[in-house]
Amino acid sequence: MTHNREVLLLTPGPTPIHPRALAALQWPMLSHMDAEVLAFNDLVMDNLKTLYNSDPGAFPCLLSGTGSLGMEAGLVNLIEPGDRILVVVNGVFGERQADMARRLGAEVHEVTFTAGMPVEVEQVARMAERLRPKLLATVHGETSTGVLNPVAELGEVASRVGALYLVDAVTTVGMLPFDMAAWGIDYAYTGSQKCLSAPPGVAPVAFSRRAMEVIEKRSTPVASWYCDVQQMRSYWVGGESGKNYHHTIPVQLHWATGEAIRATLEEGIAARAVRVHALGDAALRALETVGFRAFVPRPYRLPTVLALTLPDDFEDGRVRHQLRHDYGISITGGLGATTGRIWRLGLMGENARTANYLRLMEALAEIFVAPHLLRLFEESLMVDSHPTPG
Ligand SMILES: *Cc1c(COP(=O)(O)O)cnc(C)c1O
Repeated sequence: MTHNREVLLLTPGPTPIHPRALAALQWPMLSHMDAEVLAFNDLVMDNLKTLYNSDPGAFPCLLSGTGSLGMEAGLVNLIEPGDRILVVVNGVFGERQADMARRLGAEVHEVTFTAGMPVEVEQVARMAERLRPKLLATVHGETSTGVLNPVAELGEVASRVGALYLVDAVTTVGMLPFDMAAWGIDYAYTGSQKCLSAPPGVAPVAFSRRAMEVIEKRSTPVASWYCDVQQMRSYWVGGESGKNYHHTIPVQLHWATGEAIRATLEEGIAARAVRVHALGDAALRALETVGFRAFVPRPYRLPTVLALTLPDDFEDGRVRHQLRHDYGISITGGLGATTGRIWRLGLMGENARTANYLRLMEALAEIFVAPHLLRLFEESLMVDSHPTPG
């Protein structure tokens, strides 16, 4: 039995649970209609508006499911059968958006870029101008490749062609600046277990005021009863007769996610971004000396998922197995087109702590018989103008 042994998660989700989220899991079990739960939900909505920088008329809430439910809820509410939509694809999660939209009966067009390569905004713009889609969908940080996509520029494209704009914020919101209102985003979603470091099972999402207006004017009912945002709003915000039962929310996960959001806002996004950059840069500098290389060039590198091309003749499976079994450290290889080609080190939420990366560097220094790794990592952190907290 190994399930009692502590394992350090340096995967790009799930991430180690924040101590305050862990403590909140032990708060009392209450009914989903209890006044304390409803008041907590109000606080969560306020904090989500801050987290997403959404417009004052936006509707944020927690969905009972993982990040993929967040993806599906946005699409199912905003798409009606036959709608033309354009999805920007440069990895697994863009493909997932297109797959979901197709299942909803949309006319789906994809503008595809090679895994690991950046999105070319001009190419998206040309296609959007030709197609005039009802909705433009993209992923901010493509976890499968470690690429950061230009969501602000793509937002300008969406606004130019009058399209709704849906953004996957799973690897970015809570760790890097995210500005729903300024970037013209109509729907954004994440998962509790990524940058917020809560347990998996809850999807914090936000609909813009414009998104809610479009949904109110739908000519067909939302294809999913469970994800119908107007029903959801009748629980979270309520109507004239107060707040209504929709489904039994996972109360403990709400406590934990609500606390994780609060801890995120108290630390501040600027401070969180600093520790991500400092740790990622130091880890890369150290690992380059044993043959790893950055998979993605700096201008479009996603800071929260460090994608590393493997050294020549590297026994990927054996080393990751050794890390997991001998050192209790879990890291992830590639996904989709990057399978077998890269490692992906998570720098989201509680991943991105100095102590965690010291532990990884210590282990790799032993495995590679390269004691300088650790020293180089520590020196790189020290010369960084912003020392890393934690
Ligand atoms: C993890 C992830 C998802 C899906 O989240 P699940 O919680 O696994 O359903 C969606 N998009 C991106 C970019 C992700 O990293």
